[in-house]
Parts: sequence; structure tokens; C-alpha cells
Amino acid sequence: MMKKTSPIKVPMIQPTMPPPEEYIAEIASIWITRKLTNMSPKHQKLEEALQNYLDVRQFQLFVNGHQALECIIQALNLKGEVITTPFTFVSTIHAIVRCGLKPVFCDVCEDNFTIDVSKIEGLITEKTSAIIPVHVYGMVCDVEGIQNIADKHNLKVIYDAAHAFGVQVKGKGIGSFGDAAMFSFHATKTYHTIEGGALAFHDTALSEQLLARKDFGITGPESVEYVAGNSKLDEFRAAMGLCNLRHIEEEIEKRKRAAERYDMHFSNVAGIQRLPVQKGVTKNYSYYPIVLNGYKLTRNALYEKLREKGILTRKYFYPLCNELECYRGEYGDAEVPIARLISENVLCLPMFAGLTDEQVDFVCDAILK
Ligand SMILES: *Cc1c(COP(=O)(O)O)cnc(C)c1O
Repeated sequence: MMKKTSPIKVPMIQPTMPPPEEYIAEIASIWITRKLTNMSPKHQKLEEALQNYLDVRQFQLFVNGHQALECIIQALNLKGEVITTPFTFVSTIHAIVRCGLKPVFCDVCEDNFTIDVSKIEGLITEKTSAIIPVHVYGMVCDVEGIQNIADKHNLKVIYDAAHAFGVQVKGKGIGSFGDAAMFSFHATKTYHTIEGGALAFHDTALSEQLLARKDFGITGPESVEYVAGNSKLDEFRAAMGLCNLRHIEEEIEKRKRAAERYDMHFSNVAGIQRLPVQKGVTKNYSYYPIVLNGYKLTRNALYEKLREKGILTRKYFYPLCNELECYRGEYGDAEVPIARLISENVLCLPMFAGLTDEQVDFVCDAILK
């Protein structure tokens, strides 16, 4: 018999949307320009605005974060093996594999869930060409430690910064680290363009190639220099991005308020591990994960209990990427005990800008009582 589930009282995520009039006003000019896509005025305006907001040197928009990641892997001409972590959204690993590379899984740190720098060098072989670390939940990787290893072994570094929109480290935009950083502007992220993504990078020599790589590799009316797909962001999505960018500060502020209310409820509770505070790092409150560590309920039991009360949560990230059907057994046994431990005990609680105090209290009552 199917378990009875309550109607949804608290969703996991609710995408941010501007007032409809604002969006309609923003798109109205598209009927005059008749430019719907191909890096037109809205695209240009958004690219400039985001480059400023994110405080990065080179910046380009893409149709989504995944395609952006594939484009930069190809533009950097990576070969062989890439060191990454299995505690990420499967897109990170798919991008590596779809570009013909082998992912090598490194374990993560117990406190902030990002790549454990002390375990990277043991995984480097003569085939290693890059490290692709992930700023999980907006927690910042040890960017200095990673760069030191990359410099020593002549490796490229591409950050998956899909969760880290707007995060700053000691006053520097998160996209300034490594050779490049990928952002995702998917509807479920802190900032979105419905679907969308971007790359921040340093080397100006990559600009033209990336521009071509998002447009079938076309470099001129009669020349195609690269074998590439189509990764262009259209004008309607760029318009959504322009609207959402006007509200981003208040959106993050609302998330902060919800996160602080969760913190208040959990402050004296044993067995519930929360995200650490990272010194000199600003937060974007993209997710509110808890790790159950000796709590009276297991993660799975809590997930079910909340679902029965109409509260949606996510086992994010579970299973680990190396244990998904498409990758299981493909790349040898990954030694990732910490990643496994976190993956089996983590639960992301509802988090979005419109989450009310009452909803947070309702979720916490259900967890604690
Ligand atoms: C969302 C996400 C992606 C993919 O981004 P899309 O814009 O959906 O293609 C990649 N990595 C991580 C960690 C993500 O959360």
C-alpha cells in the first residue's frame, strides 16, 4: 500500500520571480529590436552587470552552467585525468566524462564538504591535467592550498561555483580563483535566469574561443574553427536575469533571515551539525543543509517524517556520484569515506527567499519534537 502523504506545506525551493509588470516592461523592447538571441542587447547588458556584481575580470554568459563547464574544459584542451569530488551534483562529473576525460575522486573535508586538499597530491599521476573542485553549498574551497598544488604540478583549476553566486573571499569575487569558475543560473539557484550559466576566467586569449564555442565553433562568416555545440543564452532569459539582479540583495537578505532562524532553533541541539562560519567569506545562503551526527533520528527516517508532514527536503548529494548507475564500478574504488559519511547523513532543509518565519518554525518543530 502507498504511504499517505500530506499536501505540500513547505516546498524545498521556490524560484525567485520579479513582479510580472517588471518583467513585461523589460521584455517589451524585444518586440522593437526583434533580436531574440545571438548575444543581443539584453545579453550584453546582463553580461556587463554580472561581471561587475561578481567582481571578475573576464566573464561570459552561457545557456546553462553545465554547457559552460564543458566549453571551458574543451577550451583549456584538458586531457587524461581530472581530480574532483563525488560529493557534487552529477553535472560536474558528466562534464568531465562527456569531454572524454577520466574523473578521479578525491575525498572531502568533514566540516565544510569541499575537496580535502591534503588528499589531492596522492591522486596526481602523469595523466592528471586539472582539478575541478566544487564550492559546495557556497562553502569556499581552500583556494590557496589548491592553487599551490596546481602550480607545483602544472595543473589547471576550474571551480564549479554553481552554488557560490556572489560569495566573496576577503573582498575578492569567488570567480577570481583558479583558471576559471563556472556559475549556474538555474531556476533553483540563489540567482537565476530561468536556465543560464556563466564562466569567469583570467586569460583574455580564451575570450574569442569561448565566444565561438557557444555558437557551433563559428569564428567568421566563412570559418568554423572548433567542433562545438550551441550554448547561447537568449534575450528572454537575459531579461529575467536583469530583473532578478535588481532584487538580489534583498533576496539574499531574506535567505539570511531564514538561515538565522534555523540556527536559533538548532543552536543547543546535540547531533545536528550545521555549516561552519568561514573566516573572511561572505555567504549567499543558497542551501541550509544539516548533517545528523548522533541525532535521535536517522537521516532517512527524518526525511520520511518530514514528508509525511508536507515538508519537502532533499538528500543532496546522495547517492555520491561515483555510486550512480552510470558511474558505479567504472573508475575503480574511490576512497572517499568522509564523502560517504556526509552523503548518508545530510539533509537539505527548505531554503528560499520567500520562506516565512512560521514555515521555519514548523519545519524545526517537526525535526525537534
Ligand atoms: C546546478 C549545478 C550545476 C549545473 O548547472 P545548470 O545551470 O543546471 O546546468 C553544476 N554543478 C552544481 C554543483 C550545481 O548545483
